[in-house]
Amino acid sequence: MYQWPDPLDLPTAVDENLHSCMTHAKPFPHPTPTTKTAYTDASFEQRVISYNVLMGNVCKKQRDAIKADPTGFLAVVPYGAGNCYFEDNPRAHLDIQDFVRSLRFLRPTTEEISKSVRETNKDIRDCFGKPWTLFLHGGSQCLRKFLLYQQTFAISERIAFSVVPLDPNIFSWAICNLVGDGITPTLKDTILAGVKRWLWKDDAFRAHIDKVLAREGVPGSVNEQVLYVTNSYTLVLIHKKDERGNPAAIAQLRGKPITSNMANHLTYLQLVCDGNYWIALNHLKTRGQGVECQLCKADTHPTWDCPLHQTPGWYGPKYDGAERHEDQAKRARDDDGFTTVTAQGSSSRGRGCGGQRATRGHGY
Ligand SMILES: [Zn+2]
Repeated sequence: MYQWPDPLDLPTAVDENLHSCMTHAKPFPHPTPTTKTAYTDASFEQRVISYNVLMGNVCKKQRDAIKADPTGFLAVVPYGAGNCYFEDNPRAHLDIQDFVRSLRFLRPTTEEISKSVRETNKDIRDCFGKPWTLFLHGGSQCLRKFLLYQQTFAISERIAFSVVPLDPNIFSWAICNLVGDGITPTLKDTILAGVKRWLWKDDAFRAHIDKVLAREGVPGSVNEQVLYVTNSYTLVLIHKKDERGNPAAIAQLRGKPITSNMANHLTYLQLVCDGNYWIALNHLKTRGQGVECQLCKADTHPTWDCPLHQTPGWYGPKYDGAERHEDQAKRARDDDGFTTVTAQGSSSRGRGCGGQRATRGHGY
């Protein structure tokens, strides 16, 4: 009889979790560029946006070009990007391009920023519909390193953006969102233990883990492999309201991705979501309850609790919808056991960088 450990043992791989990293983690190896365009010189939460999210609804021509030269492009995601954003800011990509060129790592400047083009047979379901990724091409290695080092640039009430790699091997650590009456801070450990115990015995999950980890070269029996996967699991409670405005907490299961293969990763997520999870007599649903920030596109916090515009010294846009929920955000932070997605830990010096505010948008 296999002796399963305590499901509440401390999680592994915590230090590998990109979601808990901040930008500026290591000193930038080169002198930072000087530009007359002011931007918020703060350390931000690391953005983790999966390749399939960045490339969602992007037309074949662009997808093929990026596939053929994956390191030649960086994704640029404007804060609050979506169809409405680009209707209001049709020149946003050119303004961002002007700013990037003003950094002047290389002369003459060669950076180009292009809008994504929608696949013709795709509909826009809502005003935040994809595609919204901008693609940066060209520029020196030094510039690209700097853009990824700072990652989030807040320049004006109209323009803020994040730069992220177009790396098909990067996946979010968010695995599954659970909702139901049993979700309360006091039952968080019970939920996590219940999920793990279910997965340890689930045949379809075990078979997939066995197949994938064998390919990834992880040794051990199926039991050991399943433990290896679930040992990194954590549960984060997120405040959300249902369509009637009633509190409806979400328990988000997170864990280290098990593979860099997209198809295998998606199957893995599906199998965890297929689990039959109960807390006492309460059934926990895993369908139709997403967490997505419409502003920064993270899948680990709701829009109203976006940490970016709460960063001290933020020059970027403030959003009505987000501001309306600031009280709710404060209450959430004070409420023990719920996620505290804030700018705490930010090394913001509460000021801009790169010159006078009055000169923004012009560069040299
Ligand atoms: Zn956000």
